[in-house]
Amino acid sequence: MKFETRAIHDGQPPDPATGAVIVPVYQTSTYEQDAVGRHRGFEYSRTGNPTRTALETALASLEGGRHGLAYASGVAATAAVFSLLSPGDRILAGTDLYGGTYRLLEKIFRKWGIDAAYVDASDPEAVAAAADDRTRMIWIETPTNPLLQLADLKALAVIARERAITLAVDNTFATPFFQRPLEEGADIVVHSTTKYLGGHSDVVGGAVVINDDKIHSALQTYQNAAGAVPGPWDCWLVLRGIKTLAARMKVHDENARRLAGFLEKSPAVERVYYPGLAGQPGHELARRQMTGFGGMISFDLKGGFAAVERFLEALKLFILAESLGGVESLVCYPPRMTHGAIPSEERRKRGIGDGLIRLSVGIEHPDDLEEDLRQALEKIEKR
Ligand SMILES: *Cc1c(COP(=O)(O)O)cnc(C)c1O
Repeated sequence: MKFETRAIHDGQPPDPATGAVIVPVYQTSTYEQDAVGRHRGFEYSRTGNPTRTALETALASLEGGRHGLAYASGVAATAAVFSLLSPGDRILAGTDLYGGTYRLLEKIFRKWGIDAAYVDASDPEAVAAAADDRTRMIWIETPTNPLLQLADLKALAVIARERAITLAVDNTFATPFFQRPLEEGADIVVHSTTKYLGGHSDVVGGAVVINDDKIHSALQTYQNAAGAVPGPWDCWLVLRGIKTLAARMKVHDENARRLAGFLEKSPAVERVYYPGLAGQPGHELARRQMTGFGGMISFDLKGGFAAVERFLEALKLFILAESLGGVESLVCYPPRMTHGAIPSEERRKRGIGDGLIRLSVGIEHPDDLEEDLRQALEKIEKR
């Protein structure tokens, strides 16, 4: 079956007890056992809950994987994947990275003896050169946050497989509608379901999807043992979100293409980062590897932070907020918001300049979104 159909049906048949068409919110912590140790598949809701099982089945289906696991947040899902490593192991992570992933590696896992090294993941040769004997995992985003750089999943999967390294991909920005890393050879896919999968800025959650039974079993043990599980309401909200994922992503993509083209022509804008624009370094790869470019755009404003302040103040429709992937358009200033956890010197080295703005383009009418950007850019120029 096709993606759109699986998103609505996989893991979500009508409730066998009542015929309810929508998977119920099983708001229960525990389950009756018919005799000691004889239960009907569920014992305790940290270990398993039917609403969560429905979500985990649906997530696996969307990513084309065998197993899905849901977590209380994207970083909880990331921490679960890092827990597969042992002290002395090294993780090779892409330089352009979600700030919270960087914080988790540097502030939490480093002191447990897991070493993180960073490499430009858009350059497979650099990744191959940096993968030493201790490297047990390669962790990448594509497109990256916030600079929307592309990494070649097939090439990295070959490099990882040759060296028996696990390749993990944070697929939050692309979503499985536009890109399925497991099909390109990755071992693990991670999501912040807070973003496009939830899609309505009303829930925090995370997910991991894998094919390998051994990795699944290790992650399941960690999920139950460490306990960062989502409650049934949160699972239900994500399930509701993914039913419309395909429909929403088409509009996010269409709107973002138009706004990226508009921004590229603005004299107030130094540079636009969007894989859908011809001439961008990742454009050809994006066309091969993805079926759409997504709804995230970053750009450098001329005039640094002073221009940023004027621009943000002038926006009427774009809401200044962290996060992304909801139906409403958001704007964020990565240096002081999502990427504030990265020291300023390190940030500049990574190409995150003082004029960088990130847009999460929503599904409002593109005329209104373009007009909002136009009037705000004009106000910078007038000063
Ligand atoms: C938001 C985000 C995360 C973290 O997810 P939370 O749900 O906020 O914990 C991880 N990776 C990417 C790319 C993100 O955008």
